[in-house]
Amino acid sequence: MMVSVAIDGPAGAGKSTIAKIVSQRLGFIYVDTGAMYRAIALACLKSRADITSEQEVISRLPEIHIEIKFMGGEQKVMLDGEDVSSEIRAEKVSMAASSVSAIPQVRTYLLELQRSFARSYNVIMDGRDIGTVVLPDAAVKIFLTAAPESRAHRRKLQLEEKGVQADYNRILEDIIKRDYNDTHRETAPLKPAQDSFVVDTSELTLEESVEKIIEIIKENCDEI
Ligand code: C5P
Repeated sequence: MMVSVAIDGPAGAGKSTIAKIVSQRLGFIYVDTGAMYRAIALACLKSRADITSEQEVISRLPEIHIEIKFMGGEQKVMLDGEDVSSEIRAEKVSMAASSVSAIPQVRTYLLELQRSFARSYNVIMDGRDIGTVVLPDAAVKIFLTAAPESRAHRRKLQLEEKGVQADYNRILEDIIKRDYNDTHRETAPLKPAQDSFVVDTSELTLEESVEKIIEIIKENCDEI
């Protein structure tokens, strides 16, 4: 039996950074489901589809070929055979991903791909609906959150580290807009699973957050 850990939460709470480190320490595979929505959004942007039109996005789905590869513990996202792992991180793609992810057919399209990883590997999977919809039987469910201001501050630093100039107010606005989209959509809205552990990282350092998550996993998972 494989072990699954679900980590859900709003944009910028530190899910991917924390999940990557935790999965390395526990020897699990880290699956980033947001990257899959981003790949669909990128494909739509590239083909100049009108992403505000559900019908148009749905009609493009059969032509979109996403492949997920794991190389040296890193998840790589391939779109039509091309590695788009960096391209999908653009802010334009973030907003587009938030938009296409509200379409039920898009979610169904990705569901089986996401579940297939949990059948084959011990996984830490991060997203918005992992504990509620994708892996409702996950051994441990964590809902990672932080105040919007502290998330915006961290994202600004992250972008600056990559040499990208970033405007704090603009980032905060985007975060609040994406939170609204993700929590108010009808299909699979962002919310903590009833049996999840809610961890607020606003006042925690990265190492403290990692240790807290590992402690929760170890306490609640006999297999580890
Ligand atoms: O996690 P990340 O910010 O990369 O996700 C991009 C967007 O994809 C989110 O804003 C959210 O709308 C959507 N998403 C989702 N369900 C998931 C993962 C991401 O709806 N499981």
